[in-house]
Amino acid sequence: MKILVINSGSSSLKYQLIDMETERVLAKGNCERIGIAHSNFIYKAHGRTIEQEVEMPNHNVAVKLVLNKLTDSEIGVISSMSEIDGVGHRVVASGEAFKKPTLVTPESMKLMEEIKDLAPLHNPAAIVGIKACLSEMPNTPMVLVFDTGFHFTMPDYAYMYAIDYAHYEKYHIRRYGAHGTSHKFVAQEAAKYLKKDVKDLKIITCHLGNGSSITAVNGGRCIDTSMGFTPLAGVPMGTRSGDIDYSAAEYIAKKENMTVSETLNYLNKKCGVLGVSGVSSDFRDLSDAASNGNYRAELALNMFAYGVKKYIGAYAAALNGVDVIVFTAGIGENDDVVRRKSLQNLDYLGVKLDERKNSSCPRGEIAEIQSADSKVKILVIPTNEELVIARETMLEAKLG
Ligand code: ADP
Repeated sequence: MKILVINSGSSSLKYQLIDMETERVLAKGNCERIGIAHSNFIYKAHGRTIEQEVEMPNHNVAVKLVLNKLTDSEIGVISSMSEIDGVGHRVVASGEAFKKPTLVTPESMKLMEEIKDLAPLHNPAAIVGIKACLSEMPNTPMVLVFDTGFHFTMPDYAYMYAIDYAHYEKYHIRRYGAHGTSHKFVAQEAAKYLKKDVKDLKIITCHLGNGSSITAVNGGRCIDTSMGFTPLAGVPMGTRSGDIDYSAAEYIAKKENMTVSETLNYLNKKCGVLGVSGVSSDFRDLSDAASNGNYRAELALNMFAYGVKKYIGAYAAALNGVDVIVFTAGIGENDDVVRRKSLQNLDYLGVKLDERKNSSCPRGEIAEIQSADSKVKILVIPTNEELVIARETMLEAKLG
């Protein structure tokens, strides 16, 4: 059983072919700069990486290239396209239209068109990618897997905004969250690693990457998450402001003569740790600058860690305690300083870090980094969103 996972961006298409018997990645790669001059095609299989400049004027050409490489006699991993049993498509935003993974059908594609503007950068790109795959593999079952899916178990008082209820009903404005596949994966992995049933655990999952979100998971179900109607909310991020008083945004907009969409672009692309530090959105650059005495880089790192800590405290309250805190994604898996700062002075919650284990944490595998007298387990778990998408695809398409 082999599942192709597709993650389409407006000018990119990331892919992985996964063998579901072993859950091993057979081949993966990325089509970059689709529709832009000097498109780039990356393909990794059999321990080799192939990078080629190939014209990719649209996603259809990109999908054809992927399929050609996967079935190539020299570097391919399957002998024909018919070996691909299903395709899982990552979709960022679902609105309330989709509450679980859904088969691609004319009806579901019609709904996808209707919710395009919920994620104007991502959802239209996903539709283009799905159509490109459909034109090359019309008879292969395909499934839409939503980043928001895991968060639909939140209670109403957690997902509602305190706005006119009529606007919630009319426009479905509420908290949806993001990174759902990652939060779900690491919560399940944590339970597996601890040899416990996920139903018996209160877990706080911290997905800290370019975009960061924190989720409270009770018995395997999300009960609250830090991102909101869009991935702009929550902790400060690489370039996103995170939570901000709306009046402050309006004040800046007026002073700087920005329209509503310019203000949103500013909050999404020019704020966060990049805006505060003036150095970079990349935490490696921030750490370097901070260790060279750059005050604003240090401030940005402190603001980020403090934001994570506040959500941990809030979610420990929401969960009525916490058994496990999980760190994942680029920063969560690699940045021991952020982990240390986020967990400082949480001993009243029973959270105690082993600083040596934290700073010598191995890359790419699960690590346990709490001290012997910590009541709460602290785990670093590499995320695998593609695997969750592949698993959901198998389930929804009733494969295997
Ligand atoms: P995305 O949200 O784009 O998937 P990732 O999860 O890949 O992001 O995280 C990207 C971020 O992870 C980078 O911007 C960088 O700040 C951080 N990062 C990656 N490797 C390291 C590292 N070794 N040390 C500190 N931060 C890192």
